[in-house]
Amino acid sequence: MTQHARLQPPPIPFIDLAAQRRALGTRIDAAVARVMEHCQFILGPEVRALEGQLSAFCGARRAVTCASGTDALALVLMAKGVGPGDAVICPAFTFCAPAEMAALVGATPVFADVDEATFNLSPASAADAVAHARSLGLTPKAIIAVDLYGLPADHDAIAALAAAEGLFVLDDAAQAFGATYRGRRIGAVADATATSFFPAKPLGCYGDGGAVFTNDDELAETLISLRMHGHGEDRYDHVRIGVNGRLDTVQAAVLIEKLAAFPDEIAGRERVAQRYSEGLGDVARIPRVPAGLTSVWAQYTIRLSPGAREGFAAALWAEGVPTAVHYPKPLHRQTAYRRYPRAPGGLAAAERLAEEVISLPMHAYLDEPTQARIIEAVRRAVAA
Ligand SMILES: *Cc1c(COP(=O)(O)O)cnc(C)c1O
Repeated sequence: MTQHARLQPPPIPFIDLAAQRRALGTRIDAAVARVMEHCQFILGPEVRALEGQLSAFCGARRAVTCASGTDALALVLMAKGVGPGDAVICPAFTFCAPAEMAALVGATPVFADVDEATFNLSPASAADAVAHARSLGLTPKAIIAVDLYGLPADHDAIAALAAAEGLFVLDDAAQAFGATYRGRRIGAVADATATSFFPAKPLGCYGDGGAVFTNDDELAETLISLRMHGHGEDRYDHVRIGVNGRLDTVQAAVLIEKLAAFPDEIAGRERVAQRYSEGLGDVARIPRVPAGLTSVWAQYTIRLSPGAREGFAAALWAEGVPTAVHYPKPLHRQTAYRRYPRAPGGLAAAERLAEEVISLPMHAYLDEPTQARIIEAVRRAVAA
C-alpha cells in the first residue's frame, strides 16, 4: 500500500499505527514477552488459540493461519488442485496477488471487469470470462472474488454463477476481514476465504501474516499439510508438495490482542467513514455501501474527474494531508499480466477507476479535529 512519494513526511499519517500502539501496546508487548519466555516460536500455543478465536469471530468452521494473504490464496489454489490448463477468473481492478497466485500454480488468470458502483467483481463480466476461458480450451476452476477497500463483493450472484458453472469461489478478503454480507461475517460466506494480516490491513500484525477460512474440514486439513511442506500424519512422510507458509507464534500473539480490540476498531472505522461521507457527500463522489452489507473501510476512496487526481493530491499534500492510490494501473495493463485473457466485453470500468480513485487517511484512531482538517482540505482542493 504505497503512499504518494513526496519530499517531506506528512504531518497527518495515512494509517496511524502509532496511535494504535498507544492504545494497545502494553497488552501486545506483554503477549510478545510471553512468547519470548516459552520460546515456541513456530506453531506455538498462540497459533492454535488465535485460529479458534478467528473462526469464532467470523463464524467459519475452520481458520488456518499462514504466512501472508498471498500464501493464503496460493494454499487454497494448491489444495484445490488448480494448475495448468485451468482458468481462474480474477477482477482486473485490485492488488495483483489473486492473478499472481493463479499464474504461480500454473493456471491462467482470466480478467473480468468490476462494477463501477462498488469497485468489486462484476458477476456479468465474470460470466463472460468463464465462457471466454472455455472458448480458449481452458477449464474454468475458480472465481476469486475480492472484497475491495473492505466492502464485500456481490457474493450471492458470484455463488450462483459458480454453482451453475461448477466452480469454487475463493474470496480474497485481505482488505475485508470483519465486514458483513447479509448478516454473515466475511470468512463464512464463500467456499474459502483468504485474508491478510499485513500491518496496514484492518486487522494487521507486526509483520506478515494471513489466514484461510472455510467450513470444509477436508480442505482445512489439506491447508494445514500444505503450509508445512505437505506433511502427512507422520511428520516425516511428506504426502504432497507444499510450502513453508506458517504464521509465526509472535504474530499470533500480537493478533490475539488486536482481535480483542477489533470490534471497537471496526466501529471506529465506521464512524470515520460516516464523518467523511457527511463532510464530503455534496462535493465528491463518495463510496456507497449496498443495503445489507457493511464495510470495514480498509480504504475510504473517492472518485475524481479524469485528470484531476495529481493536482488534487498535490493540493492536499501541501496542507499536510497524505493520499494514496489503489490502484493506478489495472492488472491487464501491467507488464506481467498483459498477456492473460480478458472478458470479451472489455474492462472499461477497471480502466476508468484506475484513473479516478484516490483514498483518504483512514484508521480507527482518526480523531475528529484531525479529520475536520482533512475534510476542509479536500473541500478546498475539489473546489480549486
Ligand atoms: C494485501 C492484499 C493481498 C496480499 O496480502 P499479503 O498479506 O500482503 O500477502 C492480497 N489481496 C489483496 C486484495 C490485498 O489487498
